[in-house]
Amino acid sequence: MKAIDPHIHMVSRTTDDYLKLAISGIHTVAEPAFWAGFDRSSADSFRDYFQQLTAVEPARAARFGIKHYCWIGLNSKEAENLALAEEVLALLPEFLDRPTALGIGEVGLNKNSRNEIAVLEKQLAMAVDRDELILIHTPHLEDKLKGTRIIMAMIRSEPRIDPRRVLIDHAEEHTIGEIKDNGFWFGMTLYPNSKGSPERAIDAVEIYGTDRLCINSSADWSVSDPLSILKCANEMRRRGHPESAVDKVFYENPKGFLSQCPKFQAS
Ligand SMILES: [Zn+2]
Repeated sequence: MKAIDPHIHMVSRTTDDYLKLAISGIHTVAEPAFWAGFDRSSADSFRDYFQQLTAVEPARAARFGIKHYCWIGLNSKEAENLALAEEVLALLPEFLDRPTALGIGEVGLNKNSRNEIAVLEKQLAMAVDRDELILIHTPHLEDKLKGTRIIMAMIRSEPRIDPRRVLIDHAEEHTIGEIKDNGFWFGMTLYPNSKGSPERAIDAVEIYGTDRLCINSSADWSVSDPLSILKCANEMRRRGHPESAVDKVFYENPKGFLSQCPKFQAS
């Protein structure tokens, strides 16, 4: 089967993982800018990271016939230091202009703090000014529902943002309904050792349907699996869903959402 992983952190993966993706049918990936597992100490460190996302990874992926796209933004975990945040935000336009940058992301909230909200507000304004797609990171655990609601209210208060150009990621059963009702796309992340199993994701598909849904591995430097979307596709197939529905969730949907950026071409 052909599949797209719309959320995977390849800077943290080995070159062998690119080979595994290629021989498994995942020929297109999108990598959001995120936390590196530690807090960066300067804007230069972010500049190097954005350079890696927009130049180094596309070249590394191309060796295996994989198209690598990215999202550029300041993640919420590093948004507490407002002076540093200002310097990083000033870097974003240069990298958003790059030919493989699809939009602003993953931006959002982590602890729902005042500073995180202030930095998110600025990045949403930048998305409006530049007519960018938006990829939203939602908080984990007990902060998720509250944070998702704060983010949706912020976006809905800006009428120039079309919710169909926004994907709210790391959605779970208690947030999917509200995200869909507000017109947004939603993402579900598969985690090998915790909550987000393939079985649970397909349970949600059976409740909420396949429209405006993207399933991703979010594979990064921590315990994760770059082929998890294929295991999830297999679970969907095992339960008797038709191949057309599997293809929709794992290929046509991410292609449809990401193609709203004219730079995107799925292979
Ligand atoms: Zn991520």
